[in-house]
Amino acid sequence: MSKYIFVTGGVVSSLGKGVSAASLGALLQSRGYSVHVRKFDPYLNVDPGTMSPLQHGEVYVTNDGFETDLDLGYYERFLGIKLSKNDSVSGGRIYWEVLNAERRGDYLGATVQMIPHVTNKIKEHIAAPTDTDFVICEIGGTVGDIEGKVFLESIRQFANDVGRRNVMFAHLTLAPYLEQSGELKTKPTQMSVRRLLENGIQADVLFVRSPRMLTADERAKIGMFCNLPAKNVITSMDVDNIYKIPLVYDSQDVFSIMAQHFGLPDAAGDMSKIKKIEQYLNADLPVCTIGMVGKYFDVSDAYKSLNEALFHAGIQNNVRVKVKKIDAEKFTDADCADVDGIIVPGGFGARGVEGKIAAAKYARENNVPYMGICLGMQVAVIEFMCDVVGDERANSTEFTKNCTPVIDIMRDCDAENMGGTLRLGAYPCEIKPGTMAEKIYGASHISERHRHRYEVNIEYKDVLEKNGMIISGMSPDGKLPEMIEIPTHRFFVAGQFHPEFQSAFVAAAKDK
Ligand code: GLN
Repeated sequence: MSKYIFVTGGVVSSLGKGVSAASLGALLQSRGYSVHVRKFDPYLNVDPGTMSPLQHGEVYVTNDGFETDLDLGYYERFLGIKLSKNDSVSGGRIYWEVLNAERRGDYLGATVQMIPHVTNKIKEHIAAPTDTDFVICEIGGTVGDIEGKVFLESIRQFANDVGRRNVMFAHLTLAPYLEQSGELKTKPTQMSVRRLLENGIQADVLFVRSPRMLTADERAKIGMFCNLPAKNVITSMDVDNIYKIPLVYDSQDVFSIMAQHFGLPDAAGDMSKIKKIEQYLNADLPVCTIGMVGKYFDVSDAYKSLNEALFHAGIQNNVRVKVKKIDAEKFTDADCADVDGIIVPGGFGARGVEGKIAAAKYARENNVPYMGICLGMQVAVIEFMCDVVGDERANSTEFTKNCTPVIDIMRDCDAENMGGTLRLGAYPCEIKPGTMAEKIYGASHISERHRHRYEVNIEYKDVLEKNGMIISGMSPDGKLPEMIEIPTHRFFVAGQFHPEFQSAFVAAAKDK
């Protein structure tokens, strides 16, 4: 049977529960244990796909095509694991399933109640089988939220069901620093732990977010008020890079606390991969500036996975990657004067497309390395069709119907979920031998994640190739161009998919 760690948060939101949950996973992995992570969000949306990226940052896509919030991205990147629809469960989905069961008559006329029907449904999702030693469940929101109450009740019951020693409750709080008195205040933490206790849950370990390490006295005081040993009061110190958090926890013997709780042998872990990241962060390295021509810069985290992937790429290539944000709506060639490479990321709608096309043109004509992601591939193809092939009417039917539809909705293909809706999740792609794509991947069959509606129109394959653009990746049925490149250019490569969703820092650190 798996062992469970529940991560809750108190005092304020945005303390970094996701990063803490992932870091606990990293400590377990470093001792040879396998780990799975799940996120439970008490809000009432049935899934996060309907939520505005303006509120929640990027929509992260899993292999099975589920649109989730970006915490699942943290877990996958930190731990190198693959998650699915079953690992992002909202309150809305729980109620949806309960109410549908009620309509079907599954409850045989019983009065349907929060306890046991809703709590049982939540426990069913917590216990959904995995083949890992540990399942870490993050409970979204803050202790005291009305929506969260039934989730806390469920994890309380769950611990009782499977045995208290098979479940650990980790709670994240904040110790604010008061400038005037020069003190870290512990009262909010005490209140938060008490709040949790009102729900019948005694925290086993506390992660106290703070600008500096807690002193022995502060830990003892918190421990005394919160009913746990001082050594189980851990400082979750502010750091300049989230990848340092596993080291911060390891240096405070967090694994020993877990080992003791679960009755496992204490052991030193192999933290070498994470230490390499730390060395990389401290090293004096040449800077590589990447111009990112986008339009969602006013939302922090809108390009989260891409920024992370660029960070991983920096580790692998021993350079400091600096991202220069270039507003597509105001793009001029001068924006690219000081960049070493250009990326046009994904995007929806016509706003800013002209600038993205101009960026692709600049890169092509000036032999500047170019990488197009999804819309970034589509604009590269439109630009090539207009300026090299010479068809000025070339465009995407997403932006105008009155055009040469070199980018269009394609219905006659094997891709499921298509039609008016998005192509979502992982799809296979065959790589053409002898191309840059083959050199990059070192493979002839790859799988990458998609999130788009339009495709490069296969009818224009011949004319594009006759003029010097190669389709270097193709869906196995030969109908959907998945990658393009220009072989005479030093690096002009684009993909219809989002490779950034599969970038993992463990992989980046591997061969360093
Ligand atoms: N808007 C384009 C499409 O729907 C590209 C989407 C994207 O870049 N993710 O096909």
